[in-house]
Amino acid sequence: MFVDLILKNATVLSVDENDTILYDSSVVIKDNYIYDILSDAEAVKKYESINIVDIKKNILMPGLINAHTHLPMSFMKGIADDLPLDDWLQKHIWPVEAKFINEEFIYESSLFGAGEAIKNGVTMCNDMYFLEEQVAEACKKMGLRVCVGEGILDFPSAVFTDLEKRFTYLRSLSEKYQKDRFVDVAIAPHSIYTCCNDTLKRCVEFSKDYNLPVHIHLSETKKEVEDCQKEHGMLPTHYLNETGMLDLPIVTVAHGVWLQSDEIELLKNKNISVIINIDSNLKLASGFPPMEDFVRYGMNYCLGTDGVASNNNLSIIEEMGTLAKLYKGLYSDPTFLSAKEVVRAATINAASALGKRKQLGSLESGKLADIIVVDVNNIESQPLYNLYSQIVYNLNSDKIKHTIIDGKFVMKDRKLVNHDEKELILLAKNYQKQIKAGE
Ligand SMILES: [Zn+2]
Repeated sequence: MFVDLILKNATVLSVDENDTILYDSSVVIKDNYIYDILSDAEAVKKYESINIVDIKKNILMPGLINAHTHLPMSFMKGIADDLPLDDWLQKHIWPVEAKFINEEFIYESSLFGAGEAIKNGVTMCNDMYFLEEQVAEACKKMGLRVCVGEGILDFPSAVFTDLEKRFTYLRSLSEKYQKDRFVDVAIAPHSIYTCCNDTLKRCVEFSKDYNLPVHIHLSETKKEVEDCQKEHGMLPTHYLNETGMLDLPIVTVAHGVWLQSDEIELLKNKNISVIINIDSNLKLASGFPPMEDFVRYGMNYCLGTDGVASNNNLSIIEEMGTLAKLYKGLYSDPTFLSAKEVVRAATINAASALGKRKQLGSLESGKLADIIVVDVNNIESQPLYNLYSQIVYNLNSDKIKHTIIDGKFVMKDRKLVNHDEKELILLAKNYQKQIKAGE
């Protein structure tokens, strides 16, 4: 049988239900999907292709999913660091946004961000910002899968003068990408402190009418929780529950740093996933998400980088390592959060969170071919006893050799396929000059 692509001579870390690992194996790709996974010896007998790539016994694993990020902030990487959240936002981020944000900036910044994501082995981003049509188009150009969450806020911004315009924009966005295989559209009420109760309820109705997932920041800072208690007499999750939002089918909450155990229980019962952004939380000193409770209640958790303005990279590999090691230290328990659990968080858990468990998150026949190849034929990676430990405790993104999305190479031998990297770097340098001059 003729197929589109065969990746042979690979060590396949499938991240399936049984944690299957296969050596000397081939992954067979046809029509953007994984058609078969079998031994090299069997593959030679069953399949033919004009595209056969020798993986050289490197690790083939599911692409990483960045479940919370803001790609249009790419050109704000490192713009201001080591500051309290309020200063950082009000004195640095918001003024730059007010001055520079327009369609062109968002497109180019997202193009750069999509390139950076791919170089980090990320095959899908769950994004949140404004004018997300630009993010969608930039990701499509780079070949990156994306869920574009159009931000909803009560107050006027540089791009939208009123709330009505935001909903009108979102309506056309959801219609445009209804059948797009690369782009999902979400409604992204920014938070409970930037959307009033009526707006949150309107988002719930909108989500029902257009069948859109919801992506929201929740319980990121202590102040958010204290203000909510003062203003509404309850915790943020209970407040959100009263709007009906937690009864929607796909809701992802980013951060959850200050969630209390009854909130976690409620979220778990409503089948809602939390996205942990540990590097961003540490850098902004927001606090430590209650991992022990997430695990105890069996809550689905996955990983995000947040924007590069607060991270300052898009490395899910780094998120994995930081998360696993930080909590062992915090809880004085080296058995807490195994490398295997953390790899699942970055792949299959994230696919579940985004309602795409049947299509993404593991290497299995019938799933979309979103795959990365990790180079282990180097001194830093050898000897190699355990694949999960290798990925979580040893690896850095430079060792991601190839990134394949929808069955196509989007990075081959660390070189972006769909855009010239030099041009992207030039773009970033030009914006940096303009932003610096305008400060
Ligand atoms: Zn965020």
